[in-house]
Amino acid sequence: MEKKLKPATLCIRGGWKPQNGEPVQPPIYQSTTFKYDNTEEMAQLFDLKKSGYFYTRLANPTNDAVAQKIAALEGGVGAMLTSSGQAANFYAVFNICEAGSHIVASTEIYGGTFNLFGVTMKKLGIDCTFVDQDASEEEIQKAFRPNTRAMFGETISNPGCRVLDIEKFARIAHRNGVPLIVDNTFATPINCRPFEWGADIVTHSTTKYMDGHAAAVGGVVVDSGNFDWMAHADKFAGLCLPDDSYHGLTYAKDFGKMGYLTKLVAQLMRDLGSIPSPQNAFLLNLGLETLHLRMARHCQNAQRIAEFLEADERVAWVHYCGLKSDQHYALGQKYLPGGSCGVIAFGLKGDRETAVKFMDSLRLINIATHVADSRTCVLHPASHTHRQLSDEQLRAAGIDPTLIRLSVGIEDVDDLLDDIKQSLG
Ligand SMILES: *Cc1c(COP(=O)(O)O)cnc(C)c1O
Repeated sequence: MEKKLKPATLCIRGGWKPQNGEPVQPPIYQSTTFKYDNTEEMAQLFDLKKSGYFYTRLANPTNDAVAQKIAALEGGVGAMLTSSGQAANFYAVFNICEAGSHIVASTEIYGGTFNLFGVTMKKLGIDCTFVDQDASEEEIQKAFRPNTRAMFGETISNPGCRVLDIEKFARIAHRNGVPLIVDNTFATPINCRPFEWGADIVTHSTTKYMDGHAAAVGGVVVDSGNFDWMAHADKFAGLCLPDDSYHGLTYAKDFGKMGYLTKLVAQLMRDLGSIPSPQNAFLLNLGLETLHLRMARHCQNAQRIAEFLEADERVAWVHYCGLKSDQHYALGQKYLPGGSCGVIAFGLKGDRETAVKFMDSLRLINIATHVADSRTCVLHPASHTHRQLSDEQLRAAGIDPTLIRLSVGIEDVDDLLDDIKQSLG
C-alpha cells in the first residue's frame, strides 16, 4: 500500500506506523539488546525462522522504521541502514563479490568510493575497471570480464555533476548478467528513483540531503528485489549456494526477493558491524520529513545561481544539468525532470590559486568538507577531497583542477548571490 503514496506523503508517513496511543515519532530504542522469556524463542530468531529483535547490530526498531521509509521512497522491497555512505557502498558490492571478482564502475564517482574500489577493495582481491560513463555501449562492454559481478554509477556524480544514463548502464549490466548499483545520494528519491529506470540496487550517503542538517553521518542500501540471482547462480555463489555460517540456508532461494537484503544483514552486518546508532537514525528520520520541501528549494536556488555564474565573464565553465547549455541537459530532462539537486560544479578563469582566492573571500558561504546540506558550502576537490589524486588522475575522473563544488543550500538566494558577487571581486 505504501508504494502508492506520493513521495511527499512517504517522507512524512513512511516507515513508522503508530498504533492507537503510540507516539507519532519513532521512539529511539537506544538499547543494544532485547530480552526474551524463553530459550526457544530467541533460538528461532538466531535461525532466521522468526523475525524479531535481539541485538542492535543485527536489527533495531528505530533503524528499521527509518530504513522502511527510505525503501518506500525508492520503491524497493527493503533497505538496510549503515553507519556511513562509505559502508553502504562497500556492503552493496561486497554482498555479491569475493576475492577473484571484478566490478565495472564509472570514473565519475565520489572520491571516497573511487579509493574504495580502486585501492582498498583491490587489497581484498576485488578488481575494478573504471569506464567513461558517456562512452558508447560497445566501448563500455569491453570492460566486462567473465568474473564481473556488478556495475556501479552515481545518478548525479559528486563532484562533477554529470548525469548517469541509467537505462544504458542497466542494459549493459543485464546483458552481462550482473546487477546495476546506483548511488542516488545527490538526486534523492524525490528527484529520481533509479529502480524505475532499471537499476537493481540503490545506495545513499544519508549524511547528505536525506539528513540535510549536517547532524548525522549515515548510509543506506536499498534493494529493488528485481534481480534474478538464481538465474545467474554460477556468478553469485554467496546468494545461491548454502551458507555454512548459517546452517546451510540459501539466501536467494529461501528468502526470494529478500535474499540479497537478508544476506546483507545476517552475514555482512553480523560479521563486519557498521550499524548506525538509533539516535542517528532518529535524526535522519527528522531530516527525511522535509526532504521533499528542501529538495525543491535547493534546486530553485541552484538554478538561479547556475544561471548567474554562466552569464558572468569571470567564470570559465559551469556544470549544472538545469542549464540548457550543459552537456547533460538532455539526460537531466529525462531522469530528473522535476529538478536535479543543489550542487553546481564550476571553474573560474585562471588557475588553482584563483579558485582558492575566491573561496577565501566568501563571508556567508562556508568552506566545508560537506555537501548537500541546508547551509551553502564550497569545496575545492583539488585541495581537499581529491588531494590524494594527481592532476592526471583528477582529469581522468573528470575533475578539472580548478573545479569548485558549490553546494547551494536553502537560505535566501539573494544573500547567496551577494556573497558570490563580492567574492568574485
Ligand atoms: C559523501 C558521499 C559518499 C560517502 O558517504 P559518507 O556518508 O561520507 O560515508 C558516497 N557517495 C556519495 C555520492 C557521496 O556524496
